[in-house]
Amino acid sequence: MIVKCKNCLPKEGIDIPDFSISEKSKLMALKVQSPLNSIKYIIDNLKINHRDAKYIVTHINEIYGQCNRCKFDSLDEEHINCPKCGALNFNWKIDNGTEI
Ligand SMILES: [Zn+2]
Ligand SMILES: [Zn+2]
Repeated sequence: MIVKCKNCLPKEGIDIPDFSISEKSKLMALKVQSPLNSIKYIIDNLKINHRDAKYIVTHINEIYGQCNRCKFDSLDEEHINCPKCGALNFNWKIDNGTEI
């Protein structure tokens, strides 16, 4: 699917794969430890180029429901543009590796 963020390049957005639940939880955990390693993980495992991998990692939420940019905390969709600041959020819902 195509996701877009008004604050980031490329303006036309990028095409993201359907991440599996295990990939989502892996990436969320990795991002907290090291954004660089999560970018590397995406490049190595999902065959995505560096620019897009970086774009994806930048937008992964660390806290479910909370915008990475403005801390608005009522995001309720998976790939959502924040209603307050417009930033893209990968608002993945993960609970011990299982999707709720
Ligand atoms: Zn952005
Ligand atoms: Zn926001």
